[in-house]
Amino acid sequence: MPTLKFAVLPGDYIGPEVMTEALRVLDHVAAREKLTLSYQVADVGGAGIDRHGKALPDSTLALCRESDAILFGSVGGPKWEKLPPKEQPERAALLPLRKAFNLFANIRPGLLYKDLVDASPLKAERIPDGIDIVCIRELTGGIYFGQPKTTTTLDNGEQQAVDTMVYKTSEIERIAEVAAVTARARGRRVCSVDKANVLETSVLWRKTVTAYFAAKHPDLELTHMYVDNAAMQLARNPNQFDVLFTENMFGDILSDEMAVICGSLGMMSSASLGTGLNSFGKPFGLYEPAGGTAPDIAGKGIANPCAQILSGALMLRYSFGLDAVATKIEAAVRKVVTVDGVRTGDIAFGRPTVGTKGMADAIIAAL
Ligand code: NAD
Repeated sequence: MPTLKFAVLPGDYIGPEVMTEALRVLDHVAAREKLTLSYQVADVGGAGIDRHGKALPDSTLALCRESDAILFGSVGGPKWEKLPPKEQPERAALLPLRKAFNLFANIRPGLLYKDLVDASPLKAERIPDGIDIVCIRELTGGIYFGQPKTTTTLDNGEQQAVDTMVYKTSEIERIAEVAAVTARARGRRVCSVDKANVLETSVLWRKTVTAYFAAKHPDLELTHMYVDNAAMQLARNPNQFDVLFTENMFGDILSDEMAVICGSLGMMSSASLGTGLNSFGKPFGLYEPAGGTAPDIAGKGIANPCAQILSGALMLRYSFGLDAVATKIEAAVRKVVTVDGVRTGDIAFGRPTVGTKGMADAIIAAL
């Protein structure tokens, strides 16, 4: 097995705390599975601004370019809040990374273990077995990037702003393929979310998705849903979905709704896959927790490292093709939290708690 080479960008506040533990878990797994890891840690976000004057220092970007994947923490926080929006750590680090590697597919597992249903704002009777769905968001197209994007002053002095929603067939097909591959490894059901009753881009989206699945994945179950209904159905009965996928802005909103109904951000991982293949012939990807830097609990050693650890598992699966190893990590996290009842504060619900390191120790022991 060749060396697994990835860039480690811990970021700010709890970022380095949870990253330390994720790396311990990955090192442990590598030793057991006889894998060779080669990773280098670099500054990003506020740490990049403080030490290099830039949220995405050139040296960090160069390291990412030499790597097969990026394991990312989270960036930003009160220390840099007064900077102009364009220089804010999140915007100035993540957007250029997305652009540099064409990270077009954001995959978020919406996983809530049965034992943690109290963490969800949904009534327990709606999700008796927890939640297990995946939300896939197109990340590089649509209204966030379409041109023209302008604010003009009209003849009557009034201001008018324009954003443009644009999608090409090829952009729709490549995200449809990610949804299909994801569904094939799970429940084989895909729901494509759009607004085809109003938007031209959605009409093309629906037509393209329908034709693509008929040609390439006729054995998978494909359904379509309008985005307003999808938002309601997620809150009503999330498990009716297996894999749902949608365009950029709808996905931005639906994936956050899904994160909320799945309880603690401390458990939520994500993968953003690029169009390019790495030296393993797999998608280059950026893997990060769905949550932010949690400044309110930083420095106390109490952040939940599971989201970062599970992001590491996604990296092994998608960028290195190590599905079985990724599954072992996921199973260990599940066992520790549900069977062993080991809990950090965010998922404790009155139970005794462990800190960031204690949770990782338990996961390593389970592995
Ligand atoms: P947040 O996700 O950092 O925190 C929201 C709540 O969830 C807090 O109460 C926090 O303590 C809790 N939480 C989050 N992760 C946790 C974990 N691993 N363990 C236990 N509890 C956890 O959101 P926020 O407070 O709105 O944002 C803080 C900073 O993070 C902001 O500067 C924001 O811009 C940044 N942010 C960065 C990213 C990113 O790097 N991708 C994403 C979201 C927010």
